[in-house]
Amino acid sequence: MLTVTFLGTSAARPTVERNVSGLSLQREGETLLFECGEGTQRQMMRYGVSFALSEIFFTHFHADHFLGVIGLIRTLGLQGRPEPLFLYGPKGAKKVLGEAMKLGVERVPFPVEIREVKPGDGMRDAGYGVRPGYEISVFPTEHGGGSVGYALREFERRGRFDVEKAKAAGIPEGPLWGKIAKGEMAGPEGVVGPARPGRLVVFTGDTRPTASVVDAAKGADLLIHEATFGEEEKERAKETGHSTAKEAAQVALAAGVKKLMMCHVSARYSTSADELVKEAREVFPNAGVAKDGMEVDVPFSD
Ligand SMILES: [Zn+2]
Ligand SMILES: [Zn+2]
Repeated sequence: MLTVTFLGTSAARPTVERNVSGLSLQREGETLLFECGEGTQRQMMRYGVSFALSEIFFTHFHADHFLGVIGLIRTLGLQGRPEPLFLYGPKGAKKVLGEAMKLGVERVPFPVEIREVKPGDGMRDAGYGVRPGYEISVFPTEHGGGSVGYALREFERRGRFDVEKAKAAGIPEGPLWGKIAKGEMAGPEGVVGPARPGRLVVFTGDTRPTASVVDAAKGADLLIHEATFGEEEKERAKETGHSTAKEAAQVALAAGVKKLMMCHVSARYSTSADELVKEAREVFPNAGVAKDGMEVDVPFSD
């Protein structure tokens, strides 16, 4: 199971319909949080996202992406959490988040470790140990001030066990099949098929359309790209370091992703983002604009 839950999809400020940036990713019982704008903890409660998380990833430090971490950490403290919490962000994370930690909290009763990341980091090791079956890589985005995006890439899975070939090779049905299927024992050639790809989910945060995102998202199962504006405000997108829906779609097309979900939409699209969807689908058909509370499952491709 790999599911993304959109907790906030509005750019810059909350609206009645949409909160500011927040996104959770649930995988094999683990919850990861990306961005934590003001009000994110209430969105987590509303949409049933677990507070039992160990890591929060930040793409940059504009207020709409991190202010919620202060209240969330205070709540986690009230709940008597003992486990450490790891906060990741680009250069400046230690200063900004370090100051945020001191606001309105006398003492955080559990360890909070702030780690600065840089483009190219593999982040194989999570704060709590080695990540089970995936890594999170960091790539540069274009939003000024050293902003980054994150890609979750699962490792390859073993190939499928071919029952017919096993029978043909004269391997008796029983425990041997299980051992060969799990790789605990070598079987005749072809009984276990070729390794199957894991899933790739890419989250850009705020950015102009850029080649580094295309590279990071090559063949992704899901690309989550910001789309703050529509085509009529494409100049404004350029001036403010954001993307239009069409530009997000062009990135999705160039990267050959399977699905594009757009978020971080300007307040004018808060009630209806149909215009953004239409503009994007002219370039890349499998595109949509997320709403708060929307869950997107990412299945294996085979
Ligand atoms: Zn933003
Ligand atoms: Zn920003």
